[in-house]
Amino acid sequence: MRSSIDRAGKLVDPLTGLGNRTLLIERLASSIAKQGNGGPQGIMAVVLLDLDGFKVVNDSLGRGAADQLLIEVGARLKSRPEAGSPRHVAARIGGDEFVVFLENLETMAQARAEAAALLARRNQPIQLHGRSISISASAGITFITGGACTPEDLLRDAGLAMSQAKALGKNRYELFDPVLGERAQARMSMAIDLHHAIERNELVAFYQPKIDLPTRSIIGFEALLRWRHSKRGLVSPAEFIPIAEETGLIIPIGEWVLNQACRQLMAWHAKYPCEPPLSMNVNLSVKQLSDPDLVGRVARILAETGIPPECLKLELTESSLITDIESARDVLTSLQGLRVGLKLDDFGTGYSSLSYLRTLHFDSLKIDPSFVQRVATDQTTRAIVETIVDLAHTLHMNVVAEGIETEDQLAGLIEVGCDTGQGFLFSRPLPAEAAEQLLEARIAA
Ligand code: C2E
Ligand code: MG
Ligand code: MG
Repeated sequence: MRSSIDRAGKLVDPLTGLGNRTLLIERLASSIAKQGNGGPQGIMAVVLLDLDGFKVVNDSLGRGAADQLLIEVGARLKSRPEAGSPRHVAARIGGDEFVVFLENLETMAQARAEAAALLARRNQPIQLHGRSISISASAGITFITGGACTPEDLLRDAGLAMSQAKALGKNRYELFDPVLGERAQARMSMAIDLHHAIERNELVAFYQPKIDLPTRSIIGFEALLRWRHSKRGLVSPAEFIPIAEETGLIIPIGEWVLNQACRQLMAWHAKYPCEPPLSMNVNLSVKQLSDPDLVGRVARILAETGIPPECLKLELTESSLITDIESARDVLTSLQGLRVGLKLDDFGTGYSSLSYLRTLHFDSLKIDPSFVQRVATDQTTRAIVETIVDLAHTLHMNVVAEGIETEDQLAGLIEVGCDTGQGFLFSRPLPAEAAEQLLEARIAA
């Protein structure tokens, strides 16, 4: 008797009274086995729900309220008001992750209807500490089909579908699609390869010249990372930087680029002295801002290379700053204390550009290529660019136009008073040796 109570206790989530992960895995394993034996379970589906914005509740209302919310969600998943509903097991398998396992479904559409009903029930407001709170959830659905599978496979697939539902805007459900699995597999293998990229010397910094628009002279470079993958050739940063960010590899990779770019600039300063000296822009991921050693590391690199701090410009993408502006502010202020420059990249593509300009002190704005491409052909775009340039100059900021590809675009930018720019019209990003040839040619001219 005692041992069966102990065992039951081990299968229950103490907070919500629902089943826990162990119970769910046992149920799934037994249903998979019965189905293998031709058992009469009908269609079976696993619905994984994850609350949207649970962290905000936790951070703003505290742990007690967050627990209360989870208890309430659990109660709603447990209750089955509809008569004749399919058999179901509800479990909490992690912080705010719940799973409902449905058996005896007659059609797949019924699983979708069940998921929609679960989400709708979730959306009804909950009373928490005298406040009425509405919190939505995102769900992923996967079916137990004839093929061999394990409970872990099912939870992974439902989890991938749930992430897809979040990516598509939250408060919705998505069905697992095997393509999601293949994509996740490809990302996983890329993450593993990326892990070895530094030690295998596969990362390369390319350099795109920054141009003074009226004179067309080179005033510096932006370092842009490339990955020479042993099997795939040159991989674009747009593909691997997000993976580096997800896996935390952006910290060593970011340090590598910073080092590489500063050493390159040191060499170019020695070889090509000019006034003002050439400057180097390095892109920083917002994830690097949470590295407690970032400021120390930048200071060390400046000291080791001896490059004047104002020749190093760190670029931050506008849209990325939105996630945690408060902690960004402190780090950016410390970086400014080192006298390095700060640039707001991709300006115009984020959400609260003007508030960043007010509260964070950037010394330059980089106008996104989407504006530059239309500056010569569209009056509205031209007016926007002109306004951005005026605004930046009023705030004592420099303006850089990115992605200049034609003479018409260049002429339009000069007309509205844009100072500097980059783009294929002048040069693509180049390996260091090729960039150096541009500098040689400049001296020869
Ligand atoms: P970004 O910093 O905004 O860099 C500008 C991108 O525009 C570069 O793409 C550049 O090659 C491209 N570009 C420059 N001129 C033109 C043009 O005239 N036409 C067109 N169509 N494109 C042009 P890239 O090198 O593929 O880099 C993409 C993004 O990846 C960068 O955008 C940056 O956000 C990120 N990235 C690159 N290197 C690093 C790095 O070292 N660290 C971090 N955290 N991010 C990096
Ligand atoms: Mg950039
Ligand atoms: Mg940009």
